[in-house]
Amino acid sequence: MPDPLLTPEQAQALVLEHIQPLGVERVPLFEALGRVLAEGITARHDSPPQDNSGMDGYALRHGDVAGAGATQPALLEVVEDIPAGHVPQQSVGPGQASRIMTGALVPPGADTVVRVEDSRREGSKVAILVPAPPGANIRRRGEDVGAGQEVVGAGMYCGPGEVALLASLQRALVPVYRPPVVAILSTGDELVEVDEPLTPGKIVNSNTYGLAALCLANGVTPRMLPIARDDEAQIRRAVESALSADFVLSSGGVSVGDYDYVKKVLDELGAQVVLWRVAMKPGKPLFFCTLGGKPYFGLPGNPVSSLVSFLQFVRPALRKAAGHPPGAWCLPVVCARLEHPLANPDDRRQYLRARLRLEAGRLLAAAPRGQGSHMLSSMLGTNGLLVLDPGAQLKGGDEVQAQLFGALA
Ligand code: AMP
Ligand code: MG
Repeated sequence: MPDPLLTPEQAQALVLEHIQPLGVERVPLFEALGRVLAEGITARHDSPPQDNSGMDGYALRHGDVAGAGATQPALLEVVEDIPAGHVPQQSVGPGQASRIMTGALVPPGADTVVRVEDSRREGSKVAILVPAPPGANIRRRGEDVGAGQEVVGAGMYCGPGEVALLASLQRALVPVYRPPVVAILSTGDELVEVDEPLTPGKIVNSNTYGLAALCLANGVTPRMLPIARDDEAQIRRAVESALSADFVLSSGGVSVGDYDYVKKVLDELGAQVVLWRVAMKPGKPLFFCTLGGKPYFGLPGNPVSSLVSFLQFVRPALRKAAGHPPGAWCLPVVCARLEHPLANPDDRRQYLRARLRLEAGRLLAAAPRGQGSHMLSSMLGTNGLLVLDPGAQLKGGDEVQAQLFGALA
């Protein structure tokens, strides 16, 4: 009896056991975009740094205008004009007001800002027509972030909002995890590069492009290596040069064909084999080992299989290495309604490429026809993988679980 195949969950857990976050580096703020913050970051100062006005208007004492209205306006003496960025020179006494712009410091003595729309200028005076509530339109010192507060925690993803907040806290250099560099190697005598003539017996090396594109889409840097022929010495040289990267992805050559030399070469190089073959379709001939401490994925050669295997196993590993917390390693799973019947007659779990779309707030899923593991057209326009257990028989309208890997249109 051959060994039972690993389930996708078992395989994923085994892979992840062998992955550790890479090092931490301090980078200029913009380079932190799309990375994971490695340390908590504490505010050195309050934000806003001082009380300032949230409106263009008049800074005044609430008691002076509490009873004001359109028919009995409160008439105040304007003592100063305070543009944003300038320090007030006058304090506001009883019966006085200062003209103030949005973002300008609230002068001493004033406790409220009345909007300019709620006033009428009368020479050196201003008539207040609407009584603002006490404290209105003042943005308080520290109400956004207080000095000493930890504003972002270790493990937080650094998106545009985080970049803006860190900029407001004057963090020009930010500690982030280093994202992995991924070497990508395609093997096979049948392969030609995209710009080479397609002579009889040959097919185009699409895997290097597809895998590199997935790396880029997931925030890691691919290093695309030249094709290695089905030749032990050539594969060996290619694997050795790939080891300067943090991760190695090869595709092809790990099945049971007579010219599938990749596993043999890895064995000779002293690889620690972790797993081979997973009960899933596509993607059964997955091989994973560590070589010189580096994670090495021998992905299936079939183009769709290599992409699906990347999403199930490589992506979570890259995300763990890049410092993402456990909840963010795997693709998010959503529930969608099938737009047509679907069955899985196979004894392996299927991952079907699908288009998920929102209609009236509900998620609908449709899987294109032609889901063969060599049929790249099944990827076109897709943003999800429908997960179908063996024997599943679903009707149109039934709920199905889907992993989201692209944006919802
Ligand atoms: P293998 O695992 O090497 O037996 O390859 C399985 C199938 O995938 C074969 O039909 C190969 O021609 C195809 N294949 C292997 N590598 C690539 C590649 N880089 N690009 C496109 N197809 C490939
Ligand atoms: Mg091959």
